[in-house]
Amino acid sequence: MILKNCRLVPELCEGFQEEMADIRIEGTDIAEILPAGGSYPGEEVIDCTGKTVLPGLFNLHNHLFFHSMNWDKIRGTQSEYLHITNSISFMRNLLAYGFTSLRDVGTPYNIAIKLRDQINAGTMVGPDIKACGIIITPNQIAPSELQVYSDNPMKAPVNDPFQARAAARKQLAEGADFLKLLGCSVAPGKRGDGPLFYPDELAEFANVAKREGTYLAIHTNSPESNDSVLDLEAYTLEHGHFWTKENNDNWLAHGKKTYIIPTLQVTWCWGEEVCSMHCSSLKMAYDAGAMFGWGTDATEEVFLADPAGEFVGRKKLWGIPNVEILKQATINSAIINGTADQRGSIKVGKKADFAIIDGKPDEDLTLFGKPCAYVLKDGAVVAQNGFVKP
Ligand SMILES: [Zn+2]
Repeated sequence: MILKNCRLVPELCEGFQEEMADIRIEGTDIAEILPAGGSYPGEEVIDCTGKTVLPGLFNLHNHLFFHSMNWDKIRGTQSEYLHITNSISFMRNLLAYGFTSLRDVGTPYNIAIKLRDQINAGTMVGPDIKACGIIITPNQIAPSELQVYSDNPMKAPVNDPFQARAAARKQLAEGADFLKLLGCSVAPGKRGDGPLFYPDELAEFANVAKREGTYLAIHTNSPESNDSVLDLEAYTLEHGHFWTKENNDNWLAHGKKTYIIPTLQVTWCWGEEVCSMHCSSLKMAYDAGAMFGWGTDATEEVFLADPAGEFVGRKKLWGIPNVEILKQATINSAIINGTADQRGSIKVGKKADFAIIDGKPDEDLTLFGKPCAYVLKDGAVVAQNGFVKP
């Protein structure tokens, strides 16, 4: 297959720096990047004239079961069936907007792990998924109204280091790619409290992750819990809301070891002021050289109401260059996700994952608000103008 007359963003390509090209796909991979306007008799050609061809997009902080902002509807106490149907719906809608790689940071019943396995087995169309299964939570949260963050019911709350080890090993045995911890309370629209886990529990999670060749992703939205994640040198710090100068100094003192995954859209939906209160200070980390990943934490409802929200929000709040925003949503996230050898940029030999968008989204971020003209994943067209392949 040939993608003809593609407009490219050179910063998102490797080994080819022209703005226009034809791309030859063989099987699942990018086989050649050729001068634009070639002739390919007998070959399947997609005409990309007037469109920009981006690498497939990433969302590293996504919960597939997050269907609605109505808390009752997303509780873990809802039926597994409902969560499965909601998760498939969200996954397909994300695909239509070009998100060919997702990291699910917590969905009940380990549903995202099961979807990942079906997609990898070729029995279902979907993005490349990394998944943690459920979120490991301490006792004071697990049995509460926040069962959304635990198995249903997760009768293995964590109250000491041995339980931490057991919970971590259980998730990995059930197929988790990494471990997600609820590092502090979930506080929609406001600051969370201090760390929920004790230092010896956190150390045990880190111990298991290290031994098993994986990593910790930790939810935090208060300065105190930000510090606990930085002190642990956990791999990813999720949200990082209410980031302080002290957090920033701590992050630097630890050699920038922790990747930060901001999630603006989950707060943007309460208005720019709330978003700014949560996220504006993260600009300190960006200015100090942080390679932000792409996260939204948005429900399907919030995402579909404003699919360009995270793009436009990062621009408005931090004023960073558009191309840096695009790198956060592609190559930077691929590096953090551990898949940069195969995905995240346009390069011969990498997987043919593309978000093909009418116009110049690098010049106008609102163009991410429409379904892609075409989405390719592993060399196959999986979505076209919002219609996702069965
Ligand atoms: Zn989340």
